[in-house]
Amino acid sequence: MYHDVIQAEDPSRSSDGPGSSRDSEPETSEEEVRDGKKERVLHTRVPAVLERELKRFADNLRVPVSNLVRTILEDALSVADAATENVEERLKKAAHQLGKERERIKKRMEHDPLEGIVAFQQVTLAVPTVCAKCEKELARGSRANLGISEVPGGPRRFVCAECLPEA
Ligand SMILES: [Zn+2]
Repeated sequence: MYHDVIQAEDPSRSSDGPGSSRDSEPETSEEEVRDGKKERVLHTRVPAVLERELKRFADNLRVPVSNLVRTILEDALSVADAATENVEERLKKAAHQLGKERERIKKRMEHDPLEGIVAFQQVTLAVPTVCAKCEKELARGSRANLGISEVPGGPRRFVCAECLPEA
């Protein structure tokens, strides 16, 4: 009887109840072998706002969210000490910087849309299209530059005047 009363009044016992410290559980990790390298798979809680932002950014770049997260982390690791922050903190910081880092990260992630193009020829468009690089709409009848592919029958790509490579 006496023992029960002590337990009920002990504040440290109340933290064992439901909804206690479980919410702040650190990320768990497991190992995965990829490309012959052992990599850790991290599971972390990401705030909904951050998750949306990451998804939006990934959609925008047309890459999987996991690739984006990996790039951001690799990027962050190259400028900061890995041991000082957890993954969530790092992602939060990266998300705050997404605005200004966007272009840089984008460049790191995307492959060149003009890969395999060896020359350009100025043409007058018979059909509307978009610039393969900046995605600007190019109207029918306007001037555009047709990429000539290394491989015959390769995908047709047009670029606007601004996106033409400069010497
Ligand atoms: Zn363009």
